[in-house]
Amino acid sequence: MMHDLVEHRFSCPYCWESITMLLEPSSADQAYVEDCEVCCNPISLRFRAEDGAIVDFHAEQLA
Ligand SMILES: [Zn+2]
Repeated sequence: MMHDLVEHRFSCPYCWESITMLLEPSSADQAYVEDCEVCCNPISLRFRAEDGAIVDFHAEQLA
């Protein structure tokens, strides 16, 4: 089942600016790295999706 991308707003773990990213709400747990659009540092994203909505979202500095 395909879901539209969901725009998710959160604070960057480096610069604390509020940024938005488009996430794909498939049902599986997801983890990937995306650069902050403000400070360009690599953010480690982890999230899960339920019924097309993002749950359990975590954004952390890349270890
Ligand atoms: Zn940033």
